[in-house]
Amino acid sequence: MLENFVFDGLPMRVIFGDGTLARLPEEVERLGPKRVLVLCTPEQREQASQVAALLGGLSVGIFDQATMHTPVSVTEAALAVVRDGKVDGVVSVGGGSTIGLGKAIALRTDLPQVAVPTTYAGSEMTPIIGETKDGEKTTQRTRRVLPETTVYDVALTLTLPPAISATSGMNAIAHAVEALYAEERNPIISLMAEAAIAALARALPAIIDDAQDRSARREALYGAWLCGVALGSVGMALHHKLCHVLGGSFDLPHAPTHTVVLPHAVAYNTPGAPEAMARVASALGAKDAAGGLYDLAKRLGAPVALSAIGMKEADLDRAVTLAAAKPYPNPRPVAADPLRRLLHNAYFGIRPEAGGA
Ligand code: NAD
Repeated sequence: MLENFVFDGLPMRVIFGDGTLARLPEEVERLGPKRVLVLCTPEQREQASQVAALLGGLSVGIFDQATMHTPVSVTEAALAVVRDGKVDGVVSVGGGSTIGLGKAIALRTDLPQVAVPTTYAGSEMTPIIGETKDGEKTTQRTRRVLPETTVYDVALTLTLPPAISATSGMNAIAHAVEALYAEERNPIISLMAEAAIAALARALPAIIDDAQDRSARREALYGAWLCGVALGSVGMALHHKLCHVLGGSFDLPHAPTHTVVLPHAVAYNTPGAPEAMARVASALGAKDAAGGLYDLAKRLGAPVALSAIGMKEADLDRAVTLAAAKPYPNPRPVAADPLRRLLHNAYFGIRPEAGGA
């Protein structure tokens, strides 16, 4: 039965395709800025240079110090460049780290942003910003940070190494999975989430087989876009909370942590959200959601055990305490004992059984 729901749509302008970067100058002009700063990580300086060249007189330069977790010190350095260069707009070329820096600048200046994503993380579609200062990460939701325009160009994703494509894609799938059982779930976002999981589950194995497969890259980027919309539109639950704890307190890498934890969080939540999990399983073409996600990660050659990505067994108890500390909406109550089993299975990379951790 169609339940009552609230749909709170986010404004977004999306240019999607292969070769769409060529449209960037007209998209910047459409928004109005005349002195744009191009943002990137040190590793993506070359791509950013191409973008700056394409923008010609609209670009006043490149700031190439974007880094994971959006440290406030980096934002302040970028803001000095914004002030000195009378910058009136930013173009973020990269993954979640670079787009996070663009958002941090917009939060403080309200400058318009054009995002040019090159990973599957989906930050460009969310009004969420996480920032770190003195080792502490704070996250907030405000539409002020949502990029005005996003240009998805499949061509820019061809250089994303297969291993990063795999974990970045699994990270995206995690957003769609939790959207299907979110407290604020609604039929529109659920349609997007299901289509996104199916697109990524088809595309990622093909990308592992051939990183230059443009048709698979196209489908993966489309799926990642929809996953980003899901993340930006409804609240996340146990899986994201666990990854936040593991990343923040034990310094585990963002996307690989999502990849390892997802099948186990799904196994945990399956008894509390059977319909959502049936949709996940059907999108994956698998018998059950948890096993299907684990098998997909394996097929991609991605990590499936926390022990393989830097977690120490001795820290598991502290992780349980932290994850169970503050209550948050979740389809199954979060309790220490089953959570301990979940983390034990994730630590050793045990294939989860349908129906609970
Ligand atoms: P990333 O942006 O840190 O990129 C990972 C590495 O890959 C970087 O060195 C980058 O330069 C390189 N890279 C990116 N695209 C490439 C390409 N096409 N070719 C070659 N190299 C490329 O990683 P990410 O996973 O995209 O983002 C992770 C960060 O984003 C985390 O800090 C996470 O918290 C944040 N995030 C935020 C949101 C949000 O809504 N606020 C959503 C998702 C992720």
